[in-house]
Amino acid sequence: MKRILTGDRPTGKLHIGHYFGSLKNRVRMQDEYETFIMIADVQALTDNFNNPDKVRSNVYEVLLDNLAVGIDPRKTKIFIQSMIPEISELTVFYSNLVTIARLERNPTVKQEIKQKKDLFGESVTYGFLGYPVSQAADITILNADVVPCGDDQLPMLEQTREIVRKFNSIYGNTFNEPEPIISNFPRVKGLDGSSKMGKSLNNAIYLDDDSETIRQKVMGAITDEHKIKKDDKGNPNNCTVYFYHEMFSQNDTEDICNECKKGTRGCVDCKRQLADNIIKVLGPIREKRMELQNNKKLLDEILMDGYMAVKPIATEMMKKVRNMMKIDYFS
Ligand code: ATP
Ligand code: MG
Repeated sequence: MKRILTGDRPTGKLHIGHYFGSLKNRVRMQDEYETFIMIADVQALTDNFNNPDKVRSNVYEVLLDNLAVGIDPRKTKIFIQSMIPEISELTVFYSNLVTIARLERNPTVKQEIKQKKDLFGESVTYGFLGYPVSQAADITILNADVVPCGDDQLPMLEQTREIVRKFNSIYGNTFNEPEPIISNFPRVKGLDGSSKMGKSLNNAIYLDDDSETIRQKVMGAITDEHKIKKDDKGNPNNCTVYFYHEMFSQNDTEDICNECKKGTRGCVDCKRQLADNIIKVLGPIREKRMELQNNKKLLDEILMDGYMAVKPIATEMMKKVRNMMKIDYFS
């Protein structure tokens, strides 16, 4: 059975971008792959080191979101990154195999540094610049074959593959080169029309938003700026609402697209239809989430079970790594 490692940063609740970008694939694939989901608290601390309470509380939010969309803890192991210190150890060894220049070229990291000017000022921390190295350790400590993710993670996977190649060529064949798995919606736009819905960007529809909140958010979403009156002809390609219709209104997209282009569809009605469809999909997810959220004992058992599954694999892998690197003293 091939192995999946994927995960989320506990920096906020998960949203429809995560659902279509990664969660749906995880749920679909958990039957055919040995699946591990990591709650990346160490990575979250790289840009939230000054806010440990936020990271701590969101560990449970992210866990709940994964369970609510259909991740089955009997099939999929969910674990907390910091509980596996072997990952940090492997990160240290990997950091010899990556140059600063290579890290600075990573387009996702570059963009994130720009967005975090308030936190980092003129000079980014060593930890944040290095998070793709730690991500390489996350994936390879389990020797994962595939990583279902959004397209912002492609540069991380490329970097991981480079590190693996370098490690294998210097110390001998140890790790697989993992492959990304991208969904049909690898980068869901934000409500504000920006290129990425992000949990830290205040432009998201969260999986646990109630019907009223969903309606309000959809009504405020950006549409084609040239379609002002109800019967103006619109361009669905420039419309965030149409983008979401492609996710939530699959059977009707052709009609929606044609009516918009002809000017027979007003944006208000179009938004109402979208809100209804989103509510239909998210309603059951929200219900399941509410059911689970009061069962702290069950949530803790799931996390402990995940830890118990990962710990021996990580221990074994580090034994092998120390042996390959000739630092296996007294073993
Ligand atoms: P943060 O702003 O804290 O980094 P995030 O919204 O980017 O949060 P992550 O926890 O970093 O979320 O990412 C979890 C997974 O969801 C990754 O595989 C990522 O590629 C995917 N993902 C995140 N945002 C989107 C999006 N807008 N569209 C598609 N996939 C996404
Ligand atoms: Mg992210």
